[in-house]
Amino acid sequence: MAGIYIHVPFCKKRCLYCDFFSNINMNKKSYYVEAVCRELLKRKNYLKKDKIKTIYFGGGTPSQLDESDFNAIFDAIYSNYDITEVKEITLEANPDDINNDYINILKKFPFNRVSLGIQSFDDEDLKFLNRRHDAAKAVTTVESLQKAGFDNISIDLMYGLPGQTKEKWQKNLDIATSLNVPHVSSYHLIYEESTAMYKLLKQGKISQVDEDTSLEMFRMLISHLKANGFIHYEISNFAKDGYFSMHNSSYWKGVKYIGIGPSAHSYDGNTRSWNPSDMDSYISGNYTQETEELSNEEKYNDYILTSMRTMWGLDLNEVKDRFGNVMYEYCIKQAKPYIERMLISDKDNRLTITPEGIFISDSIMSDMMYV
Ligand code: SF4
Repeated sequence: MAGIYIHVPFCKKRCLYCDFFSNINMNKKSYYVEAVCRELLKRKNYLKKDKIKTIYFGGGTPSQLDESDFNAIFDAIYSNYDITEVKEITLEANPDDINNDYINILKKFPFNRVSLGIQSFDDEDLKFLNRRHDAAKAVTTVESLQKAGFDNISIDLMYGLPGQTKEKWQKNLDIATSLNVPHVSSYHLIYEESTAMYKLLKQGKISQVDEDTSLEMFRMLISHLKANGFIHYEISNFAKDGYFSMHNSSYWKGVKYIGIGPSAHSYDGNTRSWNPSDMDSYISGNYTQETEELSNEEKYNDYILTSMRTMWGLDLNEVKDRFGNVMYEYCIKQAKPYIERMLISDKDNRLTITPEGIFISDSIMSDMMYV
């Protein structure tokens, strides 16, 4: 089983915090769609004819694609890949793009999951982040999608924003759970160097929330969602039973995937490769991937970083089988102090980060990695 990721690098405007590869000039969209179809054909053997289980349109803003764009891309997927057992097809969408006409277009295609970049239900936050929608639009978008039969909806929420209080964050969480969506992804704001947000921080125009508040917001997130029936299945992801993201879970479980579009990454089980982050080069047919052959230690580190983030954790038998005795012993040695402090649980040869350990998960994973 394998996955297909399609990167759609267009945004109507840039959000202050974002460093993803995307373009606000839509003039080249039709050339981009043609290039995506060519790449899907040219690289069709990358997954060695594995059956496709998940397809994910991410971005950028995939909801900037229209009916003819989806027609062309789905045709290229259907003609070149085995989709007989596909289970999940996700569209990332900006609430501002979703209206009844657009929902009717989506219903013509096999999308069965929509991931909405809501980020906040607070108008001040949304304005500051330079998002296109307001809080009311976020709520009506969820309701319109549900009314149209899309029950598998994920919403993204950000916390740790400058000026965001714990009260505001709680209000966001209350609205999120009142909407009856089965999946929430929530990330702390990161100040990426290339972003406008980082510049504001460096100019002293905004300040970061303090560490205690960040931690408390993370605690609030976990306890509120758990109290409302969500399973905390990955550090930043929560879902009702049966609604885990299959596509993202595949990444965390080391399943192969092909990434299509400029800047998209692919993984075939042994190597990682990626397309250049350059639209002109991409549409002119240059999607020669840069490739990185992973050493045994790098594969082990990847396994730590992906498995320890999830509630399924790390299988010590798998570490021994895949990476050998030396890495197995190393893994046990590094995990031991955390097991003794009950920050990692060791049950049936499976290591998972405990609810107490989750607040220092970055340090735990970093200590378990091979350097
Ligand atoms: S956050 Fe999403 S919509 Fe905003 S600039 Fe980044 S990719 Fe575009």
